Amino acid sequence: MSPAAFDCQRCGACCAAYRVSFYWAEADDAPGGTVPAGLTLPLGPHLRCMQGTETQPVRCVALRGEVGQRVACSIYDQRPSPCCAVQPGDDQCLRARQRHRVGADAPTA
Ligand code: SF4
Ligand code: SF4
Repeated sequence: MSPAAFDCQRCGACCAAYRVSFYWAEADDAPGGTVPAGLTLPLGPHLRCMQGTETQPVRCVALRGEVGQRVACSIYDQRPSPCCAVQPGDDQCLRARQRHRVGADAPTA
């Protein structure tokens, strides 16, 4: 599958597949933090996660739209580091897309 085939705006699978956890100071109630703290939950003393990614079925509270159709991250410029780390076509991406049966690489039913 060519990289051009991984259109994140028509996917969103990775925003609805994994717990998105990160160092607490990435949230905007810490100096220099960006992630809206009100959209996060504490995970012990040092970590937070995006709300909606700590439960099943997973869906980040910041995700807008329908997975596999048309989606957007409502805090794109403020999103936490794990979101920036996922790259279209990498292992996490492929597993998430497979889980949601997005794209031609998904198993047929
Ligand atoms: S699963 Fe891959 S293609 Fe889909 S939104 Fe995430 S990075 Fe983009
Ligand atoms: S913050 Fe944005 S990019 Fe990260 S999981 Fe949530 S919707 Fe997806």
